[in-house]
Amino acid sequence: MITGKNYIGNQLSSNGDLTYRTFNPKLNIENEHIFYEASSEEIETAVQSATAAFEIYRTISGQKKADFLNTIAEEILALDTELIETYTSETGLPEGRALGERGRTVGQLRTFANLVAEGSWVEAAIDTADPGRTPMPKPDLRKMLIPLGPVVVFGASNFPLAYSTAGGDTAAALAAGCPVIVKSHPMHAGTGELIASAIIAAAKKTGMPDGVFSNLNSSGIEVGTQLVQHPSVKAVGFTGSIRGGRALLDLAAKRPEPIPVFAEMGSINPVVILPKAAQTKGEDLAKTYAQSITLGAGQFCTNPGLILGIKSEALDDFIQTLSNEIIAIEPSCMLHPNIVGNYEKNKTNALQQKGLIKAAEYANELTTNHARQTVTTVEGKAFLENPILHQEVFGPFSMIVQCKDADELVSIVYGLDGQLTGTVLADNEELTTYKDVLDALQNRVGRIIFNGVPTGVEVCPAMLHGGPYPASTDSRFTAVGIHSIKRWVRPFSYQNWPNDVLPDELKNENPLDISRLLNGKQTHNSISYGANVL
Ligand code: NAP
Repeated sequence: MITGKNYIGNQLSSNGDLTYRTFNPKLNIENEHIFYEASSEEIETAVQSATAAFEIYRTISGQKKADFLNTIAEEILALDTELIETYTSETGLPEGRALGERGRTVGQLRTFANLVAEGSWVEAAIDTADPGRTPMPKPDLRKMLIPLGPVVVFGASNFPLAYSTAGGDTAAALAAGCPVIVKSHPMHAGTGELIASAIIAAAKKTGMPDGVFSNLNSSGIEVGTQLVQHPSVKAVGFTGSIRGGRALLDLAAKRPEPIPVFAEMGSINPVVILPKAAQTKGEDLAKTYAQSITLGAGQFCTNPGLILGIKSEALDDFIQTLSNEIIAIEPSCMLHPNIVGNYEKNKTNALQQKGLIKAAEYANELTTNHARQTVTTVEGKAFLENPILHQEVFGPFSMIVQCKDADELVSIVYGLDGQLTGTVLADNEELTTYKDVLDALQNRVGRIIFNGVPTGVEVCPAMLHGGPYPASTDSRFTAVGIHSIKRWVRPFSYQNWPNDVLPDELKNENPLDISRLLNGKQTHNSISYGANVL
């Protein structure tokens, strides 16, 4: 049941004066529930509870954390229709999308549960002592990953489940052993509260310390700002715009104790269409791309916002087919009037730039809060010279850059900001002929796709969802998949510690039977003193 209150650990609380409601973009009316923005005191209490909970939670076994994560998944499923109805009423997204995103969210929680139950993720490394080494004896050193402390998570508007309250950041941080305080997204506060209630129910059922999770409502930037500046907060996870992520990164860097901000931000996901591909399968590709650009009203971080090709008749045909196809698609509802407003503003701003031409725009009458999908074109030189054309227009928008030759294409790719994805539409031979283009692209992106579309993010260990700045603030990490847990931990070494007080992961007998790097060799073996050291 939605109360509109904050979860300060296990307690519901509504001491603040500021209230707000969410919005149903399909019906173009406010939703019924009133939400209470967290007050300064409530924020302070949430951080203090998380700090106290950390002292217990960081020592909890992998198996118990797994039980907690699996129970969160069950509690989310138990929310059933209330969750799905709230989700659709706060986003305008269809039920099918809500179910799909719920499946992904539950799947992520269970994957992290399996990871921590198995235990080898801590990357235990053991170098046993050699007292006889000359000229200096070698000490016994044992290293593993340990949690950072309380983490603040900001979710994005366009993924109310999978990148939000119990999304990838929260699942990974809880798996790592970090308490989480979520700064709830104002556009889906009801969905956020329901998910928070599932997390709290799971925490109580599995005996987790009070404060391991809090959910704070906010309608503006103040709650998030106070959280990021709080000295007891040790890391931040953010998914959203470049402007928002950058503001939080700067804020965290200015603290007396700077902390990491793992911000996953906007991207225009360049697609390179090479000449033979344009010639042999341009029509099919144009049809596929019309669907990809308009999928979810273009509100995906992997939306193909930029298509780069070399001038030719085949490229002209591709543009023509894409234009015809895109205007035949029925527009979808966007998440919120503000998102529609920003889409129109950013599109108008782009279209005011020298050289950008509108190739096609949906022209029929529109329902409120729906967006007109748009395709534009520009010459390579104009694109190269104008950084405004490189900015994300969040929505069903794409720009086709017509390069005069392969050299111009390479310089454009080199000049791009960091991106989540890059796509190459080519025939196999062109992968060799245009090696320079591909090398340039690899340098700018986190994931490269061959003859496909960038939309659709598979959740698996080999997925990299991130990329050079500004796609993310730290390109060494992924925001999706099990390796995203590494954002919330630090390596820690014990030197010459007695075996019985070491964590189980590092004990001689390897009681958890995890894989460890033992004297340079990856193994499940235990260490037996008295006989040979393995
Ligand atoms: P947003 O406007 O940046 O908001 C994200 C969250 O950050 C909100 O809770 C917002 O709070 C908060 N925030 C924004 N600016 C802030 C500031 N200066 N100080 C403190 N808090 C701040 O983004 P959005 O509209 O929700 O999401 C759309 C964007 O997310 C798109 O650019 C999309 O490409 C990107 N995205 C990226 C990924 C990825 O994995 N890379 C995934 C999904 C979406 P308030 O709303 O209360 O201000």
